[in-house]
Amino acid sequence: MNTPAPILPIAERGIVKEDFDAVLAPEITTALTENEVKQKGTIGGVEYKLTIRLTRWTGRTTPAQIVILSRLFWQVYPKMYSRFGAAGQSPTTITLDIENRGYGIAWNAGRLVHLHDGWLERCPEDFDCITHELAHAIQNGWNGQMLEFDGFIERFADACRYLYAFNGGEYNDKGWRMQTVESEPTREDSVRFLVWFDYFYSTKENDLLLNYFRVCHDEKYPKERWSEAWAEIFKGSALEGRSIDDIFAEYAASEFATLRTGTRRGPAPLLEKYDVRKNAR
Ligand SMILES: [Zn+2]
Repeated sequence: MNTPAPILPIAERGIVKEDFDAVLAPEITTALTENEVKQKGTIGGVEYKLTIRLTRWTGRTTPAQIVILSRLFWQVYPKMYSRFGAAGQSPTTITLDIENRGYGIAWNAGRLVHLHDGWLERCPEDFDCITHELAHAIQNGWNGQMLEFDGFIERFADACRYLYAFNGGEYNDKGWRMQTVESEPTREDSVRFLVWFDYFYSTKENDLLLNYFRVCHDEKYPKERWSEAWAEIFKGSALEGRSIDDIFAEYAASEFATLRTGTRRGPAPLLEKYDVRKNAR
């Protein structure tokens, strides 16, 4: 018989409650069990719970990286929830399972986010792959059949990855770029189009990205009726009454559509010119 070697309790493998307490707001409490980090806290009147499950953690993700993942959750998830959570009836309890098995990067299903234990060992700054997965949790099961293109599920998660990136893009913008209109030339594949109409046309009273979220989540329009969906999304804004093709053409012709977002080679031109994350704070 092949019995796996027993894994020591996480407290004996470098996971220290005080390391979380030192960097999280005092209203967020941390408790360790044998294999889990259990946290809870109330932010903006909503109680969130995060369990970091380490049953299949083999130490490839370092304890310091696990602390950053925890900080990321408590910074990013309540912000996304405060904007979209009511429309999505999104979960407030999330389990992050760091597993040395399964899909090599990360995935989401309902309240569960999987992160492969080897991913941050290989890409030590790719924390915001979890921002993307948390955006899927916020989506709470969009139905691809009721979207104009089922790729909208991933486009929205990537738009959130960019807009809500941990610490204003401290890690994300070094290694991950929001593509330009040259490589994502249609609304089916464009992440940046969502960011563009949110930046230029959302107002305090009329949040177009929230309208988009609601229309996608509520499954109001089958694919063939998405011209009506777009009309609903832009209703009451400066884009009202224009066709989606016309609006996309305005985006595609703009400077916003072409500026680089990565910071590996110096400051990102898009961010130097536009306060792109203003609606995501
Ligand atoms: Zn995804």
